[in-house]
Amino acid sequence: MADPHRASSGTGLDVDAVRADFPVLERQVHGHPLVYLDTAASAQRPRQVIEAMDDYYRRYNANIHRGVHTLSQEATEAFEQARRRVAEFINAPAAGEVVFTRGTTESINLVAQSFARPRLAPGDEVLITHMEHHSNIVPWQILCEQTGAELQVAPINDRGELEVDTMVAMMTEQVRMIGIVHVSNALGTVNPVAKVCHEARQRGIPVLVDGAQATPHMPVDVQALGCDFYCFSGHKMYGPTGIGALWAPLETLVAMPPYQGGGEMISVVSFEGTTYNEPPAKFEAGTPHIAGGIGLGAAVDYLESLGMDNVAASEAQLLDYATESLSAIEGLRIVGTARAKAGVISFTMDGIHPNDIGTIIDHYGVAIRTGHHCAMPAIRLFGLPATARVSLGIYNTRQEIDRLVEALISAARLFA
Ligand code: PLP
Repeated sequence: MADPHRASSGTGLDVDAVRADFPVLERQVHGHPLVYLDTAASAQRPRQVIEAMDDYYRRYNANIHRGVHTLSQEATEAFEQARRRVAEFINAPAAGEVVFTRGTTESINLVAQSFARPRLAPGDEVLITHMEHHSNIVPWQILCEQTGAELQVAPINDRGELEVDTMVAMMTEQVRMIGIVHVSNALGTVNPVAKVCHEARQRGIPVLVDGAQATPHMPVDVQALGCDFYCFSGHKMYGPTGIGALWAPLETLVAMPPYQGGGEMISVVSFEGTTYNEPPAKFEAGTPHIAGGIGLGAAVDYLESLGMDNVAASEAQLLDYATESLSAIEGLRIVGTARAKAGVISFTMDGIHPNDIGTIIDHYGVAIRTGHHCAMPAIRLFGLPATARVSLGIYNTRQEIDRLVEALISAARLFA
């Protein structure tokens, strides 16, 4: 049966049908219908996700994995089914290779401390790019402080594109770990991650990919990318906050020491010593965010029902429209003009601080983000302390972009 959300052409979405799934889009802000253009910070949730979590709390709320009673078994099955769905979504070879974490940030810290820390010594290097989110900078800085290793940063050009050849040239024998963002949350750049992974693999350097802004917008295939670790967050992809995932091949997870100690991650505990559970349980100490896992599974089901190719095609068309519309505003400068971009437009306007832009257009019901977007080095590279940022999701329309433009023009008039 045809999915009601897919456009008949197969190259986009029926956005009206998608919008009907998002209850929050019915609300007014300052007397105007909400225009939500802050999906890169956190996406809105469709009723399918809200209902899946509500159903867990109402009908089978219980702790998982060790319970013999019906509710516990139902909750365990739902949580593990979510893991299987997440694994399929990123084309992971096995569900046991998906570790549930609190999100991208925790996933990266886990890899830095458990995988990389034992492998680093003074003189070694960790290589990242200039467009990383703080989550893919600070854990490596902490690691370098702990081990005496050095952080190296691959440059980007003035369009906000990675200088790939320079990055490859920086993959020397000293480099023991690479961290790279798949899609930049500050500039929208889509990085040539498969190429970087290929070059790194030739040199035996493991690569972690920060997929926080990729999984909501495009098909992701961790096997085709050839990465060693892939991380993402539920709340960026229409799922709950407080849940995300780390993918790594089973043999890698087996070889890694635990990250945190506690319940669930053990096999046998005695005062003489403890043996650890198999992955992924080895990395999931304590009671997990059960409702969150179930909600993330529902988010994956939702995105799959739309088709990630359709999501990408629909957002690409809207990005073109938004880029053209914003570029036509006098005094507006787009920051980040990479040839390969996903639905993020950072910009500045002559004579108005980004925070003022955000505050003023909120009064027209338009929600955007302003500031450094947790990517201070990338924004500073353009000589700026902050930008305004529009980020697109599956529910946004051309009419909403027109409303954004009207609100921005009104803001500009106030400061003229
Ligand atoms: N990486 C990127 C590219 C992001 O955009 C974000 C969030 O904005 C993160 C990492 C951190 O994600 P979280 O706060 O969900 O851990």
